[in-house]
Amino acid sequence: MCEEVISSDGVKCPYCGHIRVADLEGVVSLLGSDGNAVEYQCSVCDKTFEVNELVSRKWKSRPIVQEERKITEAGVPEVLIAFEWEEFSREESLSVKAFLRKLPLDEVVEAAHKMTYRVADSSRRDQFKYFCGICWSKIKGPDE
Ligand SMILES: [Zn+2]
Repeated sequence: MCEEVISSDGVKCPYCGHIRVADLEGVVSLLGSDGNAVEYQCSVCDKTFEVNELVSRKWKSRPIVQEERKITEAGVPEVLIAFEWEEFSREESLSVKAFLRKLPLDEVVEAAHKMTYRVADSSRRDQFKYFCGICWSKIKGPDE
């Protein structure tokens, strides 16, 4: 060997080919996440070599199920009623739809009610921000 090697299983020795498996032997914590090369000693042939961690990105896309879209669209007017506003801007409406895809309608409506109860005197922008904050904390769950 003795040349550059890339492995997705763990750190691979460029001299003898031994792979230190990432999951089993803590390679990830050893390398850290700053992307700098670290020196590494092979546990089989004892030779030292340099290791860089390569990170790749993935994207997941999926179609929006028609049924789901209908529920989301139908929910927006109900949330608007809870807001007691005339209408949502395009951006506000998109945010509300995003929340309706992640949370049940009654939770989103509840967030809107909470907002009107707590920050009714704030600016429209702050009111909407407060509403978003409540929704996000519902999505993340009670632990965070
Ligand atoms: Zn080796």
